Amino acid sequence: MYSSEQTRHLQDLSKSLLLRAAQSSLAEKELVPLRQVLVFHEYRYYILNDPLITDPEYDSLYKWLEKLESAHPASITPDSPTQRVAKGLTKNFPAVHHLVPMLSLENSYNADDLMDWDRKARELTGLAGIEYCVEPKFDGASISLIYENDLLVRGATRGDGVEGDDITSNIKQIRSVPLSAAFSGYGIEQVEIRGEVLINKENFKKFNARLAEQQLPPLANPRNAASGSLHMKDPVEVSRRNLEAFLYHISYYSNAEGLDISRGETAGTDKAHAAKSKKTPVTHSDSLNMLWNLGFRSPQKEKKLFRNIQEVIDYCLDFESRRDQLPYEIDGMVIKVNDFALQDKMGMTTHHPRWAIAFKFKARQATSKLIKVEFQVGRTGSITPVAKIEPVPIGGVTVGSVSLFNEDVVRSKDLKLGDSVLVERAGDVIPYIVKSLPDLRTGKEKKIVFPTHCPACGDELVRTEDEAVLRCININCPAQVVERIIHFVSKDAMDIRSFGAANVMKFYELGFLKDVPGIYSLPFDQIATLEGFGEKSIDNLRTAIEASKKQPLHRVIFALGIRYVGETTAKTLAKAVGYLPDFKDFSEEQLLALEDIGPKVAGSILQFFENPDNRKMLAKLEALGVNLRSTRSDKTATGNLTGLSFLFTGTLHELKRSDAEELVEKNGGKIMSGVSSKLSYLVVGEDAGSKLEKAKKIPAIKILTEKEFLRFIGSAT
Ligand code: AMP
Ligand code: ZN
Repeated sequence: MYSSEQTRHLQDLSKSLLLRAAQSSLAEKELVPLRQVLVFHEYRYYILNDPLITDPEYDSLYKWLEKLESAHPASITPDSPTQRVAKGLTKNFPAVHHLVPMLSLENSYNADDLMDWDRKARELTGLAGIEYCVEPKFDGASISLIYENDLLVRGATRGDGVEGDDITSNIKQIRSVPLSAAFSGYGIEQVEIRGEVLINKENFKKFNARLAEQQLPPLANPRNAASGSLHMKDPVEVSRRNLEAFLYHISYYSNAEGLDISRGETAGTDKAHAAKSKKTPVTHSDSLNMLWNLGFRSPQKEKKLFRNIQEVIDYCLDFESRRDQLPYEIDGMVIKVNDFALQDKMGMTTHHPRWAIAFKFKARQATSKLIKVEFQVGRTGSITPVAKIEPVPIGGVTVGSVSLFNEDVVRSKDLKLGDSVLVERAGDVIPYIVKSLPDLRTGKEKKIVFPTHCPACGDELVRTEDEAVLRCININCPAQVVERIIHFVSKDAMDIRSFGAANVMKFYELGFLKDVPGIYSLPFDQIATLEGFGEKSIDNLRTAIEASKKQPLHRVIFALGIRYVGETTAKTLAKAVGYLPDFKDFSEEQLLALEDIGPKVAGSILQFFENPDNRKMLAKLEALGVNLRSTRSDKTATGNLTGLSFLFTGTLHELKRSDAEELVEKNGGKIMSGVSSKLSYLVVGEDAGSKLEKAKKIPAIKILTEKEFLRFIGSAT
């Protein structure tokens, strides 16, 4: 898409615009170059996944564009990066006709199926061998896009294949979908292209973590998350979900002479083929290259051409074996006849084209039986139903226990004890029950009865009106105490390594540990008599506990496990207070004035500090030496290094490597594992080797000595 010369030019242009932005000397005439470099950097980030500037740098240029555009509204272009942001809510998604119906794919499940298909394809065409293009089958939601005169004018869901929903405003939130693309360079005026919208695994996890923080049930899998997102009324929320799109098919285009050319799925296009301009692709593989060159994320690198079906099969199986390592979910591969003329000759059925077939990977679903439901007590007293099922292997793991989240989920899925159920486990997603299979019922199934009293302490459970969750409100409930301690020592909280859930439970059962402060007065002499606790492991535990006393305040706040207070809120709170117990004097207004704190969160914080038991616990912790005061790192916890990445090489003298890395992370920076153009700073110690050589070749990377790094950190914190 961009030649290396263009890349260098745009990078230089960015740097000079950034400099002028810092001096506030940008003016109307910079509108065009600003847009140009922002589109370029979006491409580097969202398509190549290889940014050349930092997020704050991008943001600063973007803000300038917004500022200049609002001063000169007449000069706003429809494909300006600012035009992705839709204002207000979408009222409805009108039905629209696809230019060419979106068909399904024929499925195959094993090597034999593919050999049969290849044989039929050769018979049908009378050819001895056919060239196939093989690419991943993306597991998301299909979309169709229309560009006219190089501008994105419509985005639609698949719907029933003939008509879909117009979701243009949501499609514009997907940054890997260009708002404009130079189809005119190929003589194309109007074009319809197809693809798949997905959420990558990492963003899906983050999204579910956010839901968990709000005590909402997680979304089942990335596919549901993607398709659900496309129908949301609030485009801002859509944008937060970080959707991505792969585009893999051109279904229709018309050229400047007004000729309509349907690709692949309608008959009688010979004439059209003849009329095509020289540059338009004549094979599927070329069309993927064309889309890639126009700035789309097509499976250009993932696709591969073969003439031999055995090689096709091997490639499919190879992808299947690497499935879990891919950043996004795929549920198979698609094999397509590469030559368009041949595709047209083969035609299609009413259901699917004859020139393509899907090779489906082994299902990560299995049927099992729901044996019983256990009720677990969480750290905030929430009662979670957990289904015990007959153990079944799914995707290489045996699943015997599946969370059901809450009563609403159980009822909406119509689950009964003794039911046959369909269980799914996708990649690193936690297993879940897709549905019950009521047709297999014998009549002996029983209703799942929720307890009225806590299974751990026997207290009566409550259910507040706005919640789907049952709760034990006895704060001395043993199950909750154990969960609270487990949370307190966990990695993202006080990070007391070598403690762990198993030790917490063991110490609790033996009466060595009764509450959170008890962590700091463990009877080590008694622990030493336990099996598996040698001198060394006790030493490690003691050192880790001692070290945790100095954790920054935001970790302490997060560790307390106050409802609705996740890591981000904990950081906000640590910045707002000098001494933790002072929160008892905070008013609701004061809390609401803080970033991202709403009434629900504020209420929960007030409640926590009003409770005399909690205040006593804080006093105990402090008496035992735990830090309750904010430190410098709390003030900068979200970080002056946000958006910057670091890598250390060679021997450092002033700092240990691990301490240096921690310093970076504490200040919001990222540690990279290797040299790439994503790296902002390489810090070189003595005897730096190949990393330094490699970094010198990438102009975007700045190289610092250890001294310079320390000065840099000092001024940043
Ligand atoms: P199915 O829904 O099982 O009939 O499979 C057909 C669907 O697979 C299409 O409608 C597309 O949404 C989707 N799909 C995902 N990746 C591809 C791809 N590379 N080529 C064609 N279709 C794909
Ligand atoms: Zn209880």
